[in-house]
Amino acid sequence: MNLESSRDLYDRALSVLPGGVNSPVRASYPYPAFIERGDGAHVIDADGNRYIDYVAGYGPVLLGHSLPDRVIAAIQSQVSDGPMYGAPTEVEVELAEFITRHVPSIEMVRFVNSGTEATTAAVRLARGYTGRDKVVIMQGGYHGAQESTLIEGDQHEAAPSSPGVPAEFAANTIPVPFNDEGAVEAVFEDHGSEIAAVLTEPLLGNQGIVMPQPGYHETLRELTREHGALLIFDEVMTGFRVGGLGCAQSHFGIEPDLTTLAKVIGGGFPIGAIGGRTEIMESLTPAGDVFEAGTFSGHPVTMTAGLETLRYAAEENVYEHLSDLGEQLRSGLVDIVADQAPAYTVTGIDSMFKVIFTRDGPAQTGACSAGCRQDPDCPHSQACPKNAGDVNAAATDRWERVFYHQMREQGVLLTPNQFESEFLTAAHTAEDIEETLEAYKAVL
Ligand SMILES: *Cc1c(COP(=O)(O)O)cnc(C)c1O
Repeated sequence: MNLESSRDLYDRALSVLPGGVNSPVRASYPYPAFIERGDGAHVIDADGNRYIDYVAGYGPVLLGHSLPDRVIAAIQSQVSDGPMYGAPTEVEVELAEFITRHVPSIEMVRFVNSGTEATTAAVRLARGYTGRDKVVIMQGGYHGAQESTLIEGDQHEAAPSSPGVPAEFAANTIPVPFNDEGAVEAVFEDHGSEIAAVLTEPLLGNQGIVMPQPGYHETLRELTREHGALLIFDEVMTGFRVGGLGCAQSHFGIEPDLTTLAKVIGGGFPIGAIGGRTEIMESLTPAGDVFEAGTFSGHPVTMTAGLETLRYAAEENVYEHLSDLGEQLRSGLVDIVADQAPAYTVTGIDSMFKVIFTRDGPAQTGACSAGCRQDPDCPHSQACPKNAGDVNAAATDRWERVFYHQMREQGVLLTPNQFESEFLTAAHTAEDIEETLEAYKAVL
């Protein structure tokens, strides 16, 4: 496989961009494929290599790289009318109406420009609304590049996970292990009246895909309610991808107080959003006094791309198609793993998937049909990662240094480490899946 042009571009990039990239995960070892263009479910790199793409922009790309004509036409028409004005437009009202119509917990929306901005504003809103400072987060959860959540450790000792984050932030952030009801109960026992919010992804999507165990979200919902804290679901990744138009919260049957959205709802353009009950949302300026603002917020081009993408997804049964493809892929992977690497775990839901190189095989044989879902009746469920530590303990070097590159050689572009989820798009076909399964068969 010729990668010379990508190598030369990376060489140039290293002189002018720190680490050669604008977001660290893209800097895969020894150098990334520079993408020249997308074509349906495929991408073509600077050397002309074609890959079946499962990066999908790290989540935002729902319909594939070739947008439907009506989506392109709407975006082009908005661009012709001028990209932005700094004044309200109808399309932002329409996108907010679309979201509030489909997600029952969301009565009002504030648009921002990234997932990071959304979670930052959600934490400030929760603190401003409750008059409390502490937030509980999950170890291995990801909420973007913001000070309040770049915190590691546990409920007893927390510290910034990056230089540049003042230790004072760690004093107000309490990390707990995902799926551990006892840990979060203990935290509320000690600090119940100081906690503004529990902030969690409905499933850990930036840590190999860890599904919640039955009852875990219900416990979070009850504890927050009991203690006057807010439950914030960070659906930046899962929103309008898992659980269809109702998002992951509808799949799990939980109504959070606040939800953060981003990725898919921008139709491939930068976006973020905070949503929730009117009573809480009206604390934001100018309705209330919790400050939040943005020059580009509600950007008309982004709003148009997001609205037309979601309308298309709703009208063309895109989520059904994606779930079917996901089942086909994950159940194929389950068979291959059972055959060739029985210690490994296939996980994911709807259009998300990952093979985690867990080291301890299941106690009994017999896999669960479409991957690990924490179903106690599935014989593999004990081996199914329960928290960030379980994924960290897997064979992450083999994944990243060997497996990822071999898959790329086979023409399948995955996310470059064991922790980032992979995504199907509406453009993937049954043939793409078959080809992908052949690649796993050759490489695992
Ligand atoms: C991607 C992601 C973010 C950050 O969003 P950006 O748009 O990259 O700032 C926050 N939370 C979750 C769950 C994410 O997956």
